[in-house]
Amino acid sequence: METNNNLFKEAYNLKIKHRGPKVYFRGLIEISNVCTKNCLYCGIRKGNPCVDRYVLPDNQVLESARFAIEAGYGSIALQGGERQDSEWVERIARLIREIKELGGTSQPLGITLSLGEQSSEVFRYWKQAGADRYLLRIEASDEQLYSKIHPSGTKNHSYSTRLQALYDLKSAGYLLGTGVMIGLPYQTRVNLDNDLKFFKELEVDMVGMGPYIPYELTPLGKLVAQWKQDKESSEFRGDFWNLSDKQLLNLSLEMVARLRCLMPHINIAATTALQVLDPLGREKAIMAGANVIMPNITVTEAKRNYNLYEGKPGLQDDAQATKDFLLKNLESVGAEVGWNERGDWR
Ligand code: SAH
Ligand code: SF4
Repeated sequence: METNNNLFKEAYNLKIKHRGPKVYFRGLIEISNVCTKNCLYCGIRKGNPCVDRYVLPDNQVLESARFAIEAGYGSIALQGGERQDSEWVERIARLIREIKELGGTSQPLGITLSLGEQSSEVFRYWKQAGADRYLLRIEASDEQLYSKIHPSGTKNHSYSTRLQALYDLKSAGYLLGTGVMIGLPYQTRVNLDNDLKFFKELEVDMVGMGPYIPYELTPLGKLVAQWKQDKESSEFRGDFWNLSDKQLLNLSLEMVARLRCLMPHINIAATTALQVLDPLGREKAIMAGANVIMPNITVTEAKRNYNLYEGKPGLQDDAQATKDFLLKNLESVGAEVGWNERGDWR
C-alpha cells in the first residue's frame, strides 16, 4: 500500500508537469444499445434477451450535445453497440456534421466516437465528416486472453480484426484511444504488464481502462459467479478473479499510475466503472494520474437500458445532476476543470 501511495504521488506529479492540473470532460452520449456482437462480458451483447433495445432519435442526441456546449464540456463522446449497416453509417456521419455545426465555427465541440470495429473506409468517412478521436479498447492485448472473453470461431470477434481496426484508425488520422479491462477472469499480472507495453508500442493518444465488473446476465459473469461458489479448483483462473472491490480498485489505480509514468503526455480517462467500486473511484484515479472524465449526458430515459455491467452509477440522475455531483467530488480533491477546452495533447 505504501509503495502504491508513492507511485500515485509520482504519477500525479508527472501529470502536473507534463499536462498541468486540469481535468477535461467528454460528455458521454450512449446513442444506442443495439449491438451485432456477443462479447462474453458485456450486458448489452446481442444474445442477452433481457435488454430493452433503443436507438436515440436525432433530437435527443442533439439535445445532449447542446447541453455539453452550455455546460462548457468542450467535447462529447458518441458511444454505442457495434453496427456496420449503411443506414447506421450514414446516420452517424450526418449527426457528426450536425453536432459540429451546433458549436459554430468559433467553438466546435470535439467529437470522440466509440462505435466498435468498422472498415477503414467507414473510419475515414466519419473522420471526414468531422470526428476527432476514436476510442476502441483492445480489451485484452494478449491474444489468448482475448479469445477467452469473446465467442470463439466467429469472424466478428477476432483479435486480428480488432488490431487491424486500431491500425486503420491511426492511418485515418484520428487521435487514438484504446484500453483494457482490469481484473478479468484468466488475466494475470504479466498480462497487465504487457497491456501497458502494448499502449506504448501503439503510441496511443488516450487510454480508457477500468475494472471488469461481472454481470450475471452474461456468460463471463455467470462463470465468475460459479467460481465464487466453488472456490476449490485446479483449473487455471488467473490472478484476479476473486479480488475484493478494494483490491480491484487499487489494482486499477495502480495501472493508471504506471501508465502515467510510462506515457506522461497522453490523456488517461478516469473510467465510470471505477465508480462502481468506490463512489470516489474516479476522483482517486485523477489523484493517481488520470486527466479525463466522461460525464454521462444521455437522456435519462435511455441510459437505464445501457447496462454494460451491474450497478451502473447515476441511473436516475439527469445530465445537470451528474455534473453537479461530479463537480462537488472533484472539488473535494482539489481538481481543476478545463472548461470549454478540448484538452488534446497534440
Ligand atoms: N461497442 C463498442 C463501444 C461500447 S462498449 C465497443 O465494444 O468498442 C464500451 C466498453 O465497455 C467496452 O470496450 C468494454 O471494455 C466495456 N465493458 C463492457 N462490459 C463490461 C463489464 N462487464 N465490465 C467493465 N467494462 C465493460
Ligand atoms: Fe457490443 Fe461493445 Fe458490448 Fe461487445 S462490448 S457486446 S461490441 S457493446
